[in-house]
Amino acid sequence: MTRTDWTRDEIAALFDLPFTELVFRAAEVHRAHHDAGAVQRSTLLSIKTGGCPEDCGYCSQSVSADSGVKATKLMDVRAVLQAAAQAKDAGSTRFCMGAAWRNPKERDMPAVIAMVEGVRAMGLETCMTLGMLEPQQAKRLADAGLDYYNHNIDTSPERYGDVITTRSFQERLDTLDAVRSAGINVCSGGIVGMGETREDRVSFVHALATLPEHPGSVPINALVPVKGTVLGDMLADTPMARIDDIEFVRTIAVARITMPESMVRLSAGRESMSEATQALCFLAGANSIFTGDKLLTAANAGDDKDDALFAKLGLRAMAAECRLSEAAE
Ligand code: SF4
Repeated sequence: MTRTDWTRDEIAALFDLPFTELVFRAAEVHRAHHDAGAVQRSTLLSIKTGGCPEDCGYCSQSVSADSGVKATKLMDVRAVLQAAAQAKDAGSTRFCMGAAWRNPKERDMPAVIAMVEGVRAMGLETCMTLGMLEPQQAKRLADAGLDYYNHNIDTSPERYGDVITTRSFQERLDTLDAVRSAGINVCSGGIVGMGETREDRVSFVHALATLPEHPGSVPINALVPVKGTVLGDMLADTPMARIDDIEFVRTIAVARITMPESMVRLSAGRESMSEATQALCFLAGANSIFTGDKLLTAANAGDDKDDALFAKLGLRAMAAECRLSEAAE
């Protein structure tokens, strides 16, 4: 039975294991619950970029950041569907759409719903990240057939206020509740390498692994420091604060062990990771990646590089049908 009663001490003990022992245990859990030779490839499209009123310290799209990202309007539905068709041709099985909003406004809902319906009709899994949702909005997205809603808890509850001041950790949990209650799969993870301690990483994984149900997808990002953002500028001056590769792999492994059935997604930060580090992440249980040259506004590894890496490691792209049927179970 999947446990949601992990204690912090148990999670800290996993982090403290000798590295090879931890990765071995994570690989065992991975094989017991997933096809270890297959990795899901998802594509992320920014459907509305920049100008966000929230002040997330890592984000170049916040109005508080001096990052040069230009604010755009919500994309046209047809253009989004074209991008989804291209992603499908390139081998993606899930299409994620992100808007830089605090929450979607009523006037945006018809277009957003048309995007979900159109992308789903192509046989792709759909995922959206639009900020905070009211229960009623979550219900409408569920009725449109949305498979996943991404809403990251970002970091540990203790450190949350140091990273974001315009909303609370509890508000994140409230949106996750609304999404779960509407019957949409939850996608929730966060970012490591924001200058947090090991204890914070323990608390971050603990918060995810003790949700009433584990998120179906758990994106684990390594901070991509962007100049002009609070954290990007802070870490530019203190390079030692950036996450160590081995510690990053440990975080993936602990997420895999504590949330055995979730898709653990290697997300932002992959672009600057060596192939060897990425291979260790796959061994430790990561089984989903974002593909394409861009992750919202940050650079990503790109399809060609990923094809070469998959060939080198003997990995297969996960089939859409398999994920869709699993999501329906
Ligand atoms: S992470 Fe999302 S909510 Fe936070 S500033 Fe960026 S776009 Fe806005």
